[in-house]
Amino acid sequence: MKHLFKYQLKQGVGAPPSPVVKAGDMVKRGQVIAEADLTKLCVPLHASVNGVVKEVTETHIIVEQSDDNKDFVKIDQSGSIADVVRNAGLIGLGGAGFPAYVKLKTQLKPGGFLIVNAAECEPVLEHNMDQIVNETEKMIGGLRLAMESTGADHGIIGIKLKHKEEIKLIIKYLKDNKITDIRVLPLRNIYPVGEERALIRDTINVLLPPGALPSEANSVVFNVETLCAIYDAVNEGKPLIDKHLTVAGRLNDLPEHTVKTLTVPIGYAIDDIVADFGGLKLPIGEIVLGGPYTGKRAVEGAAVEKTTGGILVTQEFKPVKGKLGLIQCACGASKTRMEEVAASMSAEVVGHQICKNAHEANGNYKCENPGHCPGQAEKVLELRKLGAEEVLISHCTDCSNTVMGSAPKLKMEVHHMTDHVLETMGMPVIREFDETQL
Ligand code: SF4
Repeated sequence: MKHLFKYQLKQGVGAPPSPVVKAGDMVKRGQVIAEADLTKLCVPLHASVNGVVKEVTETHIIVEQSDDNKDFVKIDQSGSIADVVRNAGLIGLGGAGFPAYVKLKTQLKPGGFLIVNAAECEPVLEHNMDQIVNETEKMIGGLRLAMESTGADHGIIGIKLKHKEEIKLIIKYLKDNKITDIRVLPLRNIYPVGEERALIRDTINVLLPPGALPSEANSVVFNVETLCAIYDAVNEGKPLIDKHLTVAGRLNDLPEHTVKTLTVPIGYAIDDIVADFGGLKLPIGEIVLGGPYTGKRAVEGAAVEKTTGGILVTQEFKPVKGKLGLIQCACGASKTRMEEVAASMSAEVVGHQICKNAHEANGNYKCENPGHCPGQAEKVLELRKLGAEEVLISHCTDCSNTVMGSAPKLKMEVHHMTDHVLETMGMPVIREFDETQL
């Protein structure tokens, strides 16, 4: 069967690249199909399959796959590590998708840190741990390249304490290879310990203000998958054409409560992945692209992008009985996403509040001190005054705990944005703080 691959031009932070192909062109896996504007924050886009261009628009390019050959056209590997990584079209693969070459151009002062975000903070997702286990050498190799490029003297791998086997494995690798300038630092099992500033705080003990860059703490942060892709680009000339991700939830060929990690070419249709797993196990609630906290609902025709980390098919939404108030977290779902889920719960929304730790910075909300609750009673009371009988929250684990300290006393039932995903997976919902549950 011939699959159609859809490549969004705008992926991650920065300007979109400009198409350099037209309908009818034959393209090879790894070939540039949209060129970066080198005067802007911008990276190129590559075809992830051999095939024929079917459509070029202002927003996307569609290629019909002709075969499933895994060879690829190599990128230009001359120039600095940052130049090669830019040629590879690499953006941060774990979050907002900031171009990796910019971070690699950072020149740290003596004593600087290259911090690996191995927190895999979102519940359910497992593909980062999978790469740590199966591609340890690649991750450390990518870390070494990033340290070389930025002049970092120290490498720190921040990973949640619950990942005991992965921690042991990395420590053994470092020991066996006599590596002494890289160490593992276990993190608490809470959300959002993988938020960039939380990670910096919990690894090198510097709390940056909202909106500050890691370089202000003489550090640079990359996630596991991005480091592996840096390694592939520099050592193998591989552009960013494949994506690691986690598939979970209500799919016919996926046993209940299990997850599957896999690698697919970027641009692969979400519908095709669903079909590969035997189709949807109806009834479902939604398909979440990403993790339960920050993921988005898949729209019709959606395809895997450079930052897609999860494909989570959820159970149906449970309707709420009373009027609903929303409290938004800087590290969780946006207001629009909360309203979308509230609508799916057939809720009448009567109020919206934002955690008082959340501050607007560069157009986004950023938490003053991620995961450290400033108290939520005031916000809950505000919603109560607006007529809310139930509350939907997107809070970190610590703040969910404090909502539970006030809302039930006001006889308000608490719902969390992640409930329908975690219940699908048979996991405990986020309410009372429990570091063992994430
Ligand atoms: S303190 Fe508030 S804004 Fe910060 S992570 Fe917790 S809920 Fe989110």
